[in-house]
Amino acid sequence: MIDIKTIAERDRSSVLHPFTQLKDFASGKLGDPTIVTGGKGISIRDAEGRTYIDGFAGLYCVNIGYGRTEVAEAIARQAYQLAYYHTYAAHTTEELAKLSHRLVQMAPGNASKVFYGLSGSDANETQAKLVWYYNNLRGQPKKKKIISRERGYHGCSVISGSMTGMSFYHDQMDLPFPGILHTGTPHHYWGAEHGESEEAFSRRRAAELEELIVREGAETVGAFIAEPVLGTGGITPPPSGYWREIQAVLRRYDVLLIADEVICGFGRTGADFGSTLYGMEPDLVTVAKGLTSGYMPLSAAIVGEKVYSVMEGAADRVGAFSHGYTYSGHPIAAAAANAVLDIVEKEQLSNRARVVGAHFQKRLKERFAQLEIAGEVRGVGLLGAIEFVADRHTKRRFDAQLKVGARISKAARERGLIARAMPHGDILGFAPPLVVSEGEIDEIVELAYQATRQVIDELAREPASV
Ligand SMILES: *Cc1c(COP(=O)(O)O)cnc(C)c1O
Repeated sequence: MIDIKTIAERDRSSVLHPFTQLKDFASGKLGDPTIVTGGKGISIRDAEGRTYIDGFAGLYCVNIGYGRTEVAEAIARQAYQLAYYHTYAAHTTEELAKLSHRLVQMAPGNASKVFYGLSGSDANETQAKLVWYYNNLRGQPKKKKIISRERGYHGCSVISGSMTGMSFYHDQMDLPFPGILHTGTPHHYWGAEHGESEEAFSRRRAAELEELIVREGAETVGAFIAEPVLGTGGITPPPSGYWREIQAVLRRYDVLLIADEVICGFGRTGADFGSTLYGMEPDLVTVAKGLTSGYMPLSAAIVGEKVYSVMEGAADRVGAFSHGYTYSGHPIAAAAANAVLDIVEKEQLSNRARVVGAHFQKRLKERFAQLEIAGEVRGVGLLGAIEFVADRHTKRRFDAQLKVGARISKAARERGLIARAMPHGDILGFAPPLVVSEGEIDEIVELAYQATRQVIDELAREPASV
């Protein structure tokens, strides 16, 4: 390998990094980029030989852990045999047919067909087009609006970025696009009124959704898109009764449900899909991240029978389905997905996420509950978060200038643990690989706890923070 300094210089002068303060990076104030050179199990290694426990599985995607040679071999095998062919005009490969068959078998809802993309963002872009196409074909050309939720995350392309309910994805970039609307976030801790139960809060959120649909006119609302468990918006499991109440409203107004399973899919919550866990019956399902555990870029928009039958029924009239990417159903990505799903099935990773996840939730609560600044400790399966507040009785937030969440994340990293500071507050998030052991969970929780204690001590010495 060429020397570290050269790599850092080349990177600094030529890479436009996502979610990086451009000026601080260019000037060197942020320090050098971390050059990631390897990964094994739940850990990654950098060019300076440091290892970190990856408590976030990359970006909630490396569910099977790093360095799985079975997947590397499947990728190589397919690359030697046939690196590329397209799927236009009814071309396929063995791996693609196999993957699609298994996805239709295992997906929630009444799955019928699978359309492939390369990212969660483009798959949600496809979902929007499918909603519009479906309603045009069945003679409801006004039924096009799509409702998502504040703090929902669905990607960052034009329509998926509009669905994302976070203003920093919109500001200065002319989003949200017209016709994409947002409704309230299902976070009981912040959203509930004093003494309001989770069930009552869920009913209120569903009533707000209904009001929005009625106000816009149900004949103009095509779909509702949501993550079973809010991910980037703060790792927030739904309050009890939420999905029952929401789905009742959607059915009443003939509004399609798109389940964005990009994080939840393939075991993350302790069930095969978040939809299964919460009794959701989606018409369209989006998967990405866990589909290949990040070993290759691949996403899918899984189309349920209700939507597909209308598409097929109109085919004589409208001709071929005119949507597709050069790389839709890429054979190497399909081979990687099959090898990953073989591991998910063989090692029963959903079940493992349920069992080890229960231990994780318990340890996280035990360790953090007594800390004065832990406002809420929450999660499901191997997704978890701690929300820090200045005063947990009044739920007063820390001054944003103190960057408490980011500092705890940084202190954890200095101790060799990657845990992510999330937006919308001082939130430390966890989504370790699903192959994590109970012993490793204990280590993750302990490192996070020590990092938090360090920042609490620092804050105590800063008069501005009280
Ligand atoms: C990450 C994510 C996306 C976007 O996926 P990309 O591959 O980054 O485009 C969409 N939805 C959810 C729920 C995600 O977490």
